[in-house]
Amino acid sequence: MSARVYLDYNATAPMRPEVREAVCEALAAGGNPSSVHDEGRHARGLIEAAREQVATLLGADPANVIFTSGGTEANVTALAPETVGAEPGGAATCVISAIEHPSVRAGGRFQAEDLCHVPVTGDGVVDVPAFAAEMETLKSEAPDRPVLVSVMVANNETGAIQPVSELAAIAHEAGAVVHADAVQAAGKVALDVSTLGADMISVSAHKIAGPTGVGVLVLDADRPVAPLLTGGGQERRRRAGTENVAGIVGFGVAADLARRDLETQAKRLGELRDRLERTLKAAHPDAIIFAEGAPRLANTSCFAVPGAKAETALIALDLAGIAVSAGAACSSGKVEPSHVLEAMGVGHDLAVAAIRVSLGWGTRDSDIDQFIAAWSRVSPSGTAERSAA
Ligand code: PLP
Repeated sequence: MSARVYLDYNATAPMRPEVREAVCEALAAGGNPSSVHDEGRHARGLIEAAREQVATLLGADPANVIFTSGGTEANVTALAPETVGAEPGGAATCVISAIEHPSVRAGGRFQAEDLCHVPVTGDGVVDVPAFAAEMETLKSEAPDRPVLVSVMVANNETGAIQPVSELAAIAHEAGAVVHADAVQAAGKVALDVSTLGADMISVSAHKIAGPTGVGVLVLDADRPVAPLLTGGGQERRRRAGTENVAGIVGFGVAADLARRDLETQAKRLGELRDRLERTLKAAHPDAIIFAEGAPRLANTSCFAVPGAKAETALIALDLAGIAVSAGAACSSGKVEPSHVLEAMGVGHDLAVAAIRVSLGWGTRDSDIDQFIAAWSRVSPSGTAERSAA
């Protein structure tokens, strides 16, 4: 039986062997990083070395890197009225785009009525004039009400890269604080928190071939944070709880590898992704590639062939040994089109046909060949769907 083909790196990138090895070593070493004895000091040393590695990937001062349990926790930590100087649960507005990850869409510690959504273009990029108009309205209607803006650097479904620096400049002009969810961008595009324009960014280890369950909130400067978890003094009182030492160590190694390989991988994966899309379009001239006109992550392709059903295709591909994901979520047995495609104005029938293929460090040329061959069997013009029809 041939090995499986994993093309779902935007969900979780498989751990690199070097990461796995470092995680296992750290697990074996043990020790509480808050303890003063030798074992504790060793664990503390591992964390601080990893903090440096993550900071280097993101152009940050290690002192401004706060380890969390992942991207979700980093986002929710940032999204608090206190971040913009309001009282807990107090009067403040949070402006987000229509294509944010659910952990941002939920609004963190903002009340639902204090959330404000900004639309995106048909290519899945935040509508800059609409954003500027929203900021202007907020400023003129309530000049003293603090505002937090949260926009993602790259979208997880389409790979569309967002104009964060431009949006941040507009937001800052209006006196807002800016958070950017960089979970999908980190390790795939060069990212420097000191030049991006955002005041804080979230990153997650498992998207860059590190372990699941560890992430960071990174600040561009020493600024106050509203801790989500309180109690112990870990992470300079910005995130209580004994650190996930092995996870953090793995994150550090993954960050180091991602930084070294970034350019080569982006070029290599971009070529593979482009070949996949060319072949797809040759076989299905009516195929739609979402966000095709926008700057995109080189590893991501989200497409739909009219008449296909992502749900069926996914199962057939899985049986053929290929892991990809759908641009639709299944909730309570009903397939819902993704909020991202919906925000881009994609109709229901096309949205439920959307497939996301995402590549990464382990993707080989032959994986793309295998995907193409399997897709031609399960797609609407392929034999699997025809025989099932
Ligand atoms: N933000 C984006 C854009 C994501 O794609 C994800 C994960 O899919 C997250 C946040 C959440 O990260 P984590 O899985 O580490 O909680």
